[in-house]
Amino acid sequence: MSFKELGLNEDILKAIEECGYTEPTPIQAQAIPHVLMTRDLVGLAQTGTGKTAGFTLPMIEILAGGRAKARMPRSLILEPTRELAAQVAQNFDTYGKYTNLSKALLTGGTSMDEQIKKLDRGVDVLIATPGRLLDLFGRGRILLNDIKVLVIDEADRMLDMGFIPDIEKIVSLLPPLRQTLLFSATMPPEIKGLTKKFLSNPREVSVAPPASPAETVEQFLVWTDAKKKYDVLEGIIKDEKVQNAFVFCNRKRDIAGLASWLKKKGYNAQPLHGDMAQSARTQTLADFQADKITLLICSDVAARGLDVKGLSHVFNYDVPMNPDDYVHRIGRTGRAGLDGRTWMLATKAETKYVDLIEQRIKKAIPVAGKGGKKQDDKKTAPVKEATKEPAQQKEKKQHRERQPEKKESRPEKRPEKKVTPPEKRPPHNEQDGDDSVVGFGNEMPTFFGGEKKN
Ligand code: AMP
Repeated sequence: MSFKELGLNEDILKAIEECGYTEPTPIQAQAIPHVLMTRDLVGLAQTGTGKTAGFTLPMIEILAGGRAKARMPRSLILEPTRELAAQVAQNFDTYGKYTNLSKALLTGGTSMDEQIKKLDRGVDVLIATPGRLLDLFGRGRILLNDIKVLVIDEADRMLDMGFIPDIEKIVSLLPPLRQTLLFSATMPPEIKGLTKKFLSNPREVSVAPPASPAETVEQFLVWTDAKKKYDVLEGIIKDEKVQNAFVFCNRKRDIAGLASWLKKKGYNAQPLHGDMAQSARTQTLADFQADKITLLICSDVAARGLDVKGLSHVFNYDVPMNPDDYVHRIGRTGRAGLDGRTWMLATKAETKYVDLIEQRIKKAIPVAGKGGKKQDDKKTAPVKEATKEPAQQKEKKQHRERQPEKKESRPEKRPEKKVTPPEKRPPHNEQDGDDSVVGFGNEMPTFFGGEKKN
């Protein structure tokens, strides 16, 4: 299957070719024909699967024929975070470079005047976070009755962030005759309910089972005490030869402390969380993308969907309380078929969250010992105390410790798999090693060296 066969126009095909994409990813191959036929669609896909192009490409095609009127955008894409919204806007710039579509990005933390000016001129594509959109609507700066295509992206994230009432309000302002696309990595009952309410006879496409982490991500778990977390984390960072990493904390207050401690230790670390000014967030992300920052100490605001190329590691400084967050956090690495490694520091108090994660990913996370040394180093006992453990936990721990077969898949050092900087990476189809392709379900696209499926 080629992009041409999907029915995209020459201007889009040219832009795709310049991106170096040789064929559609499975989600694109499945979704694009439905979207082009103006059908409603539910896309069950995690980030890293190419889902953004799965809706931006056909939208560019659909919208290419018309003209936007002042204050009346023709399509609306709702994103849970400013960063994701900015990323989608960038996708429209990249894929739509040979078409004349106008777009506006409506997110909080940036000047409203500029956004209003753009809206007044008329936009084909409006990409927004729910809060800012409702704000501008309330001020009478925007009319939503010409929306022909609505995209609700990262719907499960919207749910986690409490945006569902806002989404319901926004949808109530749209014309009932429209095309609606909804993308979500997981399908909790609330999102199922939304699809029933807002979509009409939708086609469903799916590329990976819900909440399945990428297969090219190697995961490890370290039991430790809260007081030792800084040192344990540093031990792992040293041991792992980290190229670039996200370090996730559950609490914003821990982010600043950990970032400045790591900086004092000589690491190139910076914080990123939702309380920072938008300009600082944008700058930090740009610096990280440009390899000026090695460790980004962040909250979940950075977890979903951000497409950071070549992330070698993800560290969970805390165990996320929501197992979906674990999947999304570790999904920042091992993207587009590249290897990634993730480490999670857990205290005894976090055992129940570890259990929830393991239930969600349907496997035990291999346990490593103190200071980042793997558990198969026999001299190193796991940090978790053996005493005073409830029998059930003890059994679980023994279960985790009985994972000798994981040894082969966890060699002490993997120099041959050491992550190279993005610019030095070979093109996907020149990658060797692991056959599994992540985020692409069971299909291996040929651009990753897989067999062509007809
Ligand atoms: P997404 O899941 O939308 O965040 O996309 C993940 C990454 O895949 C992005 O870096 C895209 O540029 C890249 N990508 C999207 N479509 C293709 C394709 N057909 N071939 C190769 N890479 C792609």
